[in-house]
Amino acid sequence: MKIMKFGGTSVGKPERMHQVKDLITRDNQKKIVVLSALSGTTNALVGIGEALAEAKKDLAKERIDSLHKHYQSFYKELLKTDAARTKAEKIIKEHFEFLNIILKISFNEAINRDILAQGELLSTKLFYTLLQELDVPAVFLPALDFMSIDENHEPELPKITEKLKSILVNFPQDRIFVTQGYICKNHRNEVDNLKRGGSDYSASLMGAAINAEVVEIWTDIDGMHNNDPRIVDKTKPIAQLSFDEAAELAYFGAKILHPASIWPAQKYNIAVKLLNTMEPDAVGTTITAKEQGSGVKAIAAKDGITAIKIKSSRMLLAYGFLRKVFEIFERYKTSIDMITTSEVAVSVTIDDLSHLKEITKELEKLGTVEVDKNQAIISIVGNMIAESKGTVANVMNCLTDYPIRMVSYGGSRHNISLLLDAKLKNEALKSLNEGLFQWN
Ligand code: ASP
Ligand code: MG
Repeated sequence: MKIMKFGGTSVGKPERMHQVKDLITRDNQKKIVVLSALSGTTNALVGIGEALAEAKKDLAKERIDSLHKHYQSFYKELLKTDAARTKAEKIIKEHFEFLNIILKISFNEAINRDILAQGELLSTKLFYTLLQELDVPAVFLPALDFMSIDENHEPELPKITEKLKSILVNFPQDRIFVTQGYICKNHRNEVDNLKRGGSDYSASLMGAAINAEVVEIWTDIDGMHNNDPRIVDKTKPIAQLSFDEAAELAYFGAKILHPASIWPAQKYNIAVKLLNTMEPDAVGTTITAKEQGSGVKAIAAKDGITAIKIKSSRMLLAYGFLRKVFEIFERYKTSIDMITTSEVAVSVTIDDLSHLKEITKELEKLGTVEVDKNQAIISIVGNMIAESKGTVANVMNCLTDYPIRMVSYGGSRHNISLLLDAKLKNEALKSLNEGLFQWN
C-alpha cells in the first residue's frame, strides 16, 4: 500500500483536483490519499479565528462570507452533474452553517481548532464527491476516527496504527481511501491539528502506521531544490537525499516538506518521494536511508533567528555550566537550534521568542548576556561534508564579504550551519549558489 498526499495548491483549483483524480487512478495499487485544505483556506480560517478572538464579529462574518463565496464558485467548476452538485451544496452549507453558528457562541481555543479543521474536511468531501461523480470507487476515511495526539501534542503512533489497521481490514477489496491531513483528536477527544503544514506529517504517520511502500508528497514543485528558488536565479531539484539530509533541509528552511514528517518514515524505513502534480513524470526527490554521493547537495536558510551569547569567566574550567544554561531554555520550553562555545562564552540560537525576557533574566545570573535579533541561519547540507576535501574552504570563500556571527560544523556529517545578519541572507545564498554548485 502507498500514501499519496496532495498539498493545498494541488487541490486549490477545480482543474487541479481533476489532475489529482488522474494521478490516483494511474495504477491499481492500494493507496491512502491524504489531502490538505484548498490553498488559502487555512489562512482564511486562521483569520476568522483571529477576528473572533478579538471579538470582531463583523470582520469574522465578512471573512466567513468571502470564503463561502469561494467555495460556491469552486464546486460549480469542479462538478458537472446535478446529483454531484446537490451533494456539494449540502456539504458546503453544512460547514458554513457551522462557522456561522460559532459567530453566535462564545469563542475559545477548542472552538478555534474546530474552525481550523474545516478546510481539510471541505477539501476531502468535495474531492470524494468528484470521485463519486466520475464513478471512481473509493472509501472516505475520516482522519478524526484514527489520528490522535497526546497531552504533549505528540502523535500517538501505536494507537493510530491499531485504529487505522482495524478500519482498513473492513475494506479488503477497495483500492482508494480518501482522508484528511493535518487534523486529529487530542487527549481530551477534541478536534485538534498537527500545526501548520502538518498534512505532510499526517501522511508520513499514516505511512508508518500501515508500513507503506512509499509516502508520496505531491506539491507544485519538482522535488526539493538545491537552493531557495524564490531568492536565487538558478536552482535544480535534488534526485536523492538521505533521511538525515532531508531533515536538516526541511528544518532549516526548505518549505517543501514539514520537518517532523521525516522521523516516522526514517524510523520505519519508508521511502518518501517529493513529486510535482503539474509535472507528474519529473523524477522529483527520493528520500531514503541510503547515504549517497559526497559533498554539498543543497542549501537552506531560516530567518527570524535570535542569537544569545552568555559570557562568563566562571565558565573557565567549570563543569556543569552548560547544563545550567540549557536548563533555563528547557524550563521555558524553548528549543535551541545552533550552539557554539569557547572557553569563556557560549552562543546559542532560538527562533521562539515568547519567553526571551524571562530567559535573558535568568541567564544574567550566569554571566553577561548579549542578544542579537534578526539573524538568519544558512545551512549547507550534503553527505560526508567533513570527509570531502575543501568543502569548508569553498563555503568560506563564498562568504568573504559577509561577517559571520556563528559557525557550527561537525555536529553531523551532513551539515555546516552559519549564522549571519538576516539582511545579508539573500546575497550570501546567491554567492554560495554560484560557488558551490556546477552550473552548465
Ligand atoms: N492546511 C494546513 C495548512 O495550511 C495543513 C497543510 O496544508 O499541511 O497549514
Ligand atoms: Mg505543505
